[in-house]
Amino acid sequence: MKISKFIKNSMIDFPRRIACVAFTNGCNWKCWYCQNSQLLQETEDKTDELFEFLSQRKGWIDGVVICGGEPTIHNDLPQIIRKIKEMGFDVKLDTNGTNSTMLKELVEQKLIDYVAMDIKASFSKLSEITLNNTKFDEVEKSINFLLENKVEYEFRTTVTPDLTEQDILQIAKKIKGAKTYILQPYRQPDFLKNAPKPLKIETIKHYVDVANEIVPTYLR
Ligand code: SF4
Repeated sequence: MKISKFIKNSMIDFPRRIACVAFTNGCNWKCWYCQNSQLLQETEDKTDELFEFLSQRKGWIDGVVICGGEPTIHNDLPQIIRKIKEMGFDVKLDTNGTNSTMLKELVEQKLIDYVAMDIKASFSKLSEITLNNTKFDEVEKSINFLLENKVEYEFRTTVTPDLTEQDILQIAKKIKGAKTYILQPYRQPDFLKNAPKPLKIETIKHYVDVANEIVPTYLR
Protein backbone atom coordinates (compact mmCIF):
# COMPACT_ATOMS: atom_id res chain seq x y z
CA MET A 1 0.00 0.00 0.00
CA LYS A 2 1.20 3.50 -0.79
CA ILE A 3 0.23 6.88 0.51
CA SER A 4 0.19 8.84 -2.76
CA LYS A 5 -0.29 12.26 -1.23
CA PHE A 6 -1.39 13.88 2.01
CA ILE A 7 -2.87 17.18 3.16
CA LYS A 8 -1.15 18.34 6.32
CA ASN A 9 -4.01 20.04 8.15
CA SER A 10 -7.75 19.93 7.70
CA MET A 11 -10.48 21.23 9.97
CA ILE A 12 -13.34 19.73 7.94
CA ASP A 13 -12.56 16.09 7.19
CA PHE A 14 -12.67 14.51 10.67
CA PRO A 15 -15.49 15.57 13.02
CA ARG A 16 -14.19 17.45 16.09
CA ARG A 17 -10.54 16.93 15.14
CA ILE A 18 -7.80 18.77 13.32
CA ALA A 19 -6.54 16.10 10.98
CA CYS A 20 -4.03 15.19 8.36
CA VAL A 21 -5.66 13.58 5.29
CA ALA A 22 -3.77 10.71 3.64
CA PHE A 23 -4.73 9.39 0.19
CA THR A 24 -4.04 5.77 -0.71
CA ASN A 25 -3.54 4.67 -4.30
CA GLY A 26 -5.87 2.44 -6.32
CA CYS A 27 -9.57 1.60 -6.19
CA ASN A 28 -11.70 -1.41 -7.07
CA TRP A 29 -14.39 0.80 -8.66
CA LYS A 30 -14.34 3.37 -11.46
CA CYS A 31 -17.04 5.89 -10.61
CA TRP A 32 -17.45 8.03 -13.70
CA TYR A 33 -17.12 11.32 -11.80
CA CYS A 34 -14.25 10.28 -9.53
CA GLN A 35 -12.36 13.41 -8.47
CA ASN A 36 -9.41 11.29 -7.34
CA SER A 37 -9.04 9.34 -10.57
CA GLN A 38 -5.37 10.34 -10.89
CA LEU A 39 -4.72 8.57 -7.59
CA LEU A 40 -6.01 5.33 -9.00
CA GLN A 41 -2.85 4.99 -11.10
CA GLU A 42 -0.49 6.97 -8.87
CA THR A 43 2.96 5.42 -8.42
CA GLU A 44 4.56 7.94 -6.07
CA ASP A 45 4.96 6.70 -2.49
CA LYS A 46 4.87 9.30 0.27
CA THR A 47 4.36 6.87 3.16
CA ASP A 48 7.73 7.62 4.78
CA GLU A 49 7.15 11.35 4.33
CA LEU A 50 3.75 11.02 6.03
CA PHE A 51 5.23 9.26 9.07
CA GLU A 52 8.03 11.80 9.26
CA PHE A 53 5.42 14.59 9.22
CA LEU A 54 3.29 12.86 11.86
CA SER A 55 6.24 12.36 14.18
CA GLN A 56 6.76 16.14 14.14
CA ARG A 57 3.08 16.95 14.69
CA LYS A 58 2.25 15.00 17.85
CA GLY A 59 0.19 17.29 20.04
CA TRP A 60 -0.58 19.63 17.12
CA ILE A 61 -3.03 17.52 15.19
CA ASP A 62 -5.57 15.07 16.61
CA GLY A 63 -6.13 12.56 13.89
CA VAL A 64 -5.46 11.10 10.47
CA VAL A 65 -8.06 10.51 7.77
CA ILE A 66 -7.28 7.58 5.51
CA CYS A 67 -9.04 7.94 2.17
CA GLY A 68 -8.41 7.04 -1.42
CA GLY A 69 -8.84 5.57 -3.84
CA GLU A 70 -10.21 2.79 -1.69
CA PRO A 71 -7.99 2.06 1.31
CA THR A 72 -9.47 -1.37 2.11
CA ILE A 73 -8.18 -2.97 -1.11
CA HIS A 74 -4.75 -3.04 0.54
CA ASN A 75 -4.05 -6.03 2.79
CA ASP A 76 -1.47 -4.08 4.77
CA LEU A 77 -3.89 -1.25 5.67
CA PRO A 78 -4.32 -2.54 9.27
CA GLN A 79 -0.54 -2.45 9.85
CA ILE A 80 -0.27 1.14 8.59
CA ILE A 81 -3.21 2.22 10.75
CA ARG A 82 -1.81 0.43 13.79
CA LYS A 83 1.41 2.39 13.38
CA ILE A 84 -0.56 5.66 13.23
CA LYS A 85 -2.59 4.71 16.32
CA GLU A 86 0.57 3.81 18.21
CA MET A 87 1.76 7.38 17.59
CA GLY A 88 -1.33 8.56 19.48
CA PHE A 89 -3.54 9.79 16.64
CA ASP A 90 -7.22 9.05 16.14
CA VAL A 91 -8.03 7.50 12.76
CA LYS A 92 -10.96 8.04 10.44
CA LEU A 93 -11.50 5.69 7.51
CA ASP A 94 -13.24 6.82 4.32
CA THR A 95 -14.49 3.78 2.41
CA ASN A 96 -16.85 2.65 -0.31
CA GLY A 97 -17.80 -0.30 1.91
CA THR A 98 -16.55 -3.05 -0.40
CA ASN A 99 -14.50 -4.89 2.21
CA SER A 100 -16.76 -5.61 5.17
CA THR A 101 -14.32 -8.16 6.61
CA MET A 102 -11.52 -5.64 6.90
CA LEU A 103 -13.91 -2.98 8.19
CA LYS A 104 -15.02 -5.32 10.99
CA GLU A 105 -11.45 -6.30 11.79
CA LEU A 106 -10.37 -2.64 12.04
CA VAL A 107 -13.27 -1.81 14.36
CA GLU A 108 -12.91 -4.91 16.52
CA GLN A 109 -9.19 -4.27 16.96
CA LYS A 110 -10.01 -0.65 17.90
CA LEU A 111 -7.86 0.66 15.09
CA ILE A 112 -10.38 3.20 13.81
CA ASP A 113 -12.39 5.85 15.63
CA TYR A 114 -14.73 7.01 12.87
CA VAL A 115 -15.95 5.66 9.53
CA ALA A 116 -17.38 7.66 6.63
CA MET A 117 -18.96 5.22 4.23
CA ASP A 118 -19.96 6.36 0.76
CA ILE A 119 -23.12 4.90 -0.68
CA LYS A 120 -22.70 5.77 -4.32
CA ALA A 121 -26.27 5.12 -5.42
CA SER A 122 -29.37 3.08 -4.82
CA PHE A 123 -28.46 -0.58 -5.33
CA SER A 124 -30.21 -0.70 -8.70
CA LYS A 125 -27.94 2.10 -9.97
CA LEU A 126 -24.66 1.09 -8.37
CA SER A 127 -23.23 -0.47 -11.52
CA GLU A 128 -24.23 2.56 -13.61
CA ILE A 129 -22.33 4.92 -11.28
CA THR A 130 -19.36 2.75 -10.32
CA LEU A 131 -18.92 1.22 -13.80
CA ASN A 132 -18.56 -2.05 -11.99
CA ASN A 133 -20.55 -5.08 -11.02
CA THR A 134 -18.67 -6.40 -8.05
CA LYS A 135 -18.83 -6.21 -4.28
CA PHE A 136 -22.37 -4.87 -3.95
CA ASP A 137 -23.11 -7.61 -1.39
CA GLU A 138 -20.14 -6.31 0.59
CA VAL A 139 -21.66 -2.83 0.60
CA GLU A 140 -24.79 -4.25 2.16
CA LYS A 141 -22.76 -6.14 4.78
CA SER A 142 -20.79 -3.00 5.65
CA ILE A 143 -24.00 -0.99 6.05
CA ASN A 144 -25.44 -3.61 8.37
CA PHE A 145 -22.24 -3.80 10.37
CA LEU A 146 -22.08 -0.02 10.86
CA LEU A 147 -25.71 0.02 11.93
CA GLU A 148 -24.65 -2.12 14.90
CA ASN A 149 -23.06 1.08 16.29
CA LYS A 150 -19.73 -0.43 17.26
CA VAL A 151 -17.93 2.64 15.98
CA GLU A 152 -18.93 6.23 15.26
CA TYR A 153 -19.86 6.60 11.60
CA GLU A 154 -21.70 8.50 8.91
CA PHE A 155 -23.12 7.44 5.58
CA ARG A 156 -22.84 9.84 2.70
CA THR A 157 -23.85 10.13 -0.92
CA THR A 158 -22.52 12.39 -3.63
CA VAL A 159 -25.64 13.55 -5.42
CA THR A 160 -24.78 13.12 -9.08
CA PRO A 161 -27.36 14.10 -11.71
CA ASP A 162 -28.14 10.36 -12.16
CA LEU A 163 -29.79 10.21 -8.74
CA THR A 164 -33.50 10.81 -8.38
CA GLU A 165 -35.62 11.38 -5.32
CA GLN A 166 -36.53 7.68 -5.46
CA ASP A 167 -32.85 6.67 -5.37
CA ILE A 168 -32.23 8.80 -2.29
CA LEU A 169 -35.35 7.38 -0.69
CA GLN A 170 -34.17 3.82 -1.34
CA ILE A 171 -30.77 4.56 0.20
CA ALA A 172 -32.39 6.20 3.24
CA LYS A 173 -34.54 3.11 3.76
CA LYS A 174 -31.48 0.87 3.49
CA ILE A 175 -29.71 2.80 6.28
CA LYS A 176 -32.74 3.33 8.49
CA GLY A 177 -31.57 3.52 12.10
CA ALA A 178 -28.37 5.40 11.25
CA LYS A 179 -27.62 8.61 13.15
CA THR A 180 -26.16 10.59 10.27
CA TYR A 181 -26.67 10.64 6.51
CA ILE A 182 -24.88 13.31 4.50
CA LEU A 183 -25.76 14.44 1.00
CA GLN A 184 -23.01 16.28 -0.81
CA PRO A 185 -23.40 18.02 -4.17
CA TYR A 186 -21.41 16.57 -7.06
CA ARG A 187 -18.80 18.78 -8.73
CA GLN A 188 -18.37 18.63 -12.50
CA PRO A 189 -15.04 16.87 -13.05
CA ASP A 190 -12.49 18.91 -15.07
CA PHE A 191 -11.23 15.82 -16.86
CA LEU A 192 -14.61 14.99 -18.47
CA LYS A 193 -15.68 16.88 -21.55
CA ASN A 194 -19.42 17.49 -21.51
CA ALA A 195 -19.76 16.32 -17.93
CA PRO A 196 -23.40 16.65 -16.85
CA LYS A 197 -24.29 19.73 -14.85
CA PRO A 198 -24.95 19.38 -11.10
CA LEU A 199 -28.52 19.32 -9.86
CA LYS A 200 -29.87 22.61 -8.54
CA ILE A 201 -29.22 23.13 -4.85
CA GLU A 202 -33.00 23.40 -4.29
CA THR A 203 -33.37 19.88 -5.67
CA ILE A 204 -30.69 18.54 -3.34
CA LYS A 205 -32.30 20.33 -0.39
CA HIS A 206 -35.55 18.63 -1.34
CA TYR A 207 -33.73 15.27 -1.36
CA VAL A 208 -32.44 16.09 2.14
CA ASP A 209 -36.01 16.70 3.32
CA VAL A 210 -37.21 13.46 1.74
CA ALA A 211 -34.43 11.36 3.29
CA ASN A 212 -34.79 13.16 6.61
CA GLU A 213 -38.23 11.61 7.03
CA ILE A 214 -36.45 8.29 7.44
CA VAL A 215 -32.98 9.03 8.77
CA PRO A 216 -31.32 12.24 10.07
CA THR A 217 -29.99 13.81 6.87
CA TYR A 218 -27.76 16.82 6.33
CA LEU A 219 -26.40 18.79 3.39
CA ARG A 220 -22.63 19.20 3.35
S1 SF4 B 1 -15.08 4.50 -5.03
FE1 SF4 B 1 -14.29 6.57 -4.61
S2 SF4 B 1 -12.10 6.48 -5.21
FE2 SF4 B 1 -13.12 4.69 -6.11
S3 SF4 B 1 -13.66 5.32 -8.17
FE3 SF4 B 1 -15.45 5.71 -6.86
S4 SF4 B 1 -15.23 7.86 -6.20
FE4 SF4 B 1 -13.24 7.18 -6.99
